[in-house]
Amino acid sequence: MISAVLPTYNRAPLAFVRGEGSWLVAEDGSRYLDLGAGIAVNALGHAHPKLVKTIADQAAKLWHVSNLYRIPEQERLADLLVANTFADTVFFTNSGTETMELAVKMARKYWYEKGQKDRTDILAFDGAFHGRSSAAIAAAGSEKMTKGFGPLLPGFRQLPFGDLAAVKAALNDRVAAIIVEPIQGEGGIRVLSDTFLKELRAVCNASGTLLILDEVQCGMGRTGKLFAHEWAGIEPDIMMVAKGIGGGFPLGAVLATEEAASGMVAGTHGSTYGGNPLGCAVGAAVVEEIADPAFLDEVSRKGALFRQRLEGLVAAHPDLFEAVRGQGLILGLKCKVPNTDIVKAAYGEHLLTVPAADNVIRILPALNIPDADIAEAVQRLDRAAVQVERDLATAHVG
Ligand SMILES: *Cc1c(COP(=O)(O)O)cnc(C)c1O
Repeated sequence: MISAVLPTYNRAPLAFVRGEGSWLVAEDGSRYLDLGAGIAVNALGHAHPKLVKTIADQAAKLWHVSNLYRIPEQERLADLLVANTFADTVFFTNSGTETMELAVKMARKYWYEKGQKDRTDILAFDGAFHGRSSAAIAAAGSEKMTKGFGPLLPGFRQLPFGDLAAVKAALNDRVAAIIVEPIQGEGGIRVLSDTFLKELRAVCNASGTLLILDEVQCGMGRTGKLFAHEWAGIEPDIMMVAKGIGGGFPLGAVLATEEAASGMVAGTHGSTYGGNPLGCAVGAAVVEEIADPAFLDEVSRKGALFRQRLEGLVAAHPDLFEAVRGQGLILGLKCKVPNTDIVKAAYGEHLLTVPAADNVIRILPALNIPDADIAEAVQRLDRAAVQVERDLATAHVG
């Protein structure tokens, strides 16, 4: 019989009732060190005092009003994002997938208003993940995401990951935009080089093509800059943000230049919940905290520390691990054994990690994870690795 909850997830048999910083407390009271942070969502850890106070204060005042009216909390968060990024304007959503929908609509509408009505194609990359909506799965294009869900939304093409020659060959006067994650998250913490991003920006400029960056996972301070593209010294035309921006509250945002957003006039897009006072009050508290240069420097320092320890782990277990990937606190361990074996063994050590494609384990802790918890996490990963090695040795003997 089907479960009351639609069974679309492969869930671990764990249930948590409370969180404190980088730790989650299970039903039986045992504590788990959380290196997943709800997949890069709990950017400031669980139950951060400032966020708890902000949401409680706002909840006592006003949760929701319609976008029929001005929403001061929304205006404040938009002002903060505009002040701290390339963007001139922001639209708020409740999820990453919804940012994908608007990014695609905005790019197509831009060319429509320019009189280039056939300029509707969107180029994406192999291994990309932009959400689960019809546009997002059409952009990803993989069989895993699309099989059985046809007919797919037309106008999407996939190019080999990081292949600039393929981009140049694919560009023509029907291409509205290129969409790319500076660091692929679900795809396995695959980092695009600064050089590639610079060249991508240059070919977009030369052809007028809009550049959409999906920073839903790699943005909001995770790399040690507020947004990952800042490392390459480039700016997008449109950027998708979600996950960390709400610190755990469902919140997303599409940021854009005035030019790229020029087709999106009154009546062209909307959302009932998007930009509600509760979400925006929390989002502003999160952005204030993370956009602080001292906070971002700490993310870089913690990231370097974590990485160094993980390099040691890889060296100590060369039969299990191949390499460390990523930047700041969006890190990946490329595995030589099935990544899920390591993730399971880590559960045994009360450590939470997240599998990704390309046989990688993702490490996406709270951005304020204490150094002591980083050391503890790597010790637990080491014990999990020893356990996997033992199991392998037993299997060989048996
Ligand atoms: C998670 C994710 C999305 C989708 O976000 P949802 O909130 O799950 O809809 C889109 N793009 C990237 C890069 C993501 O990591």
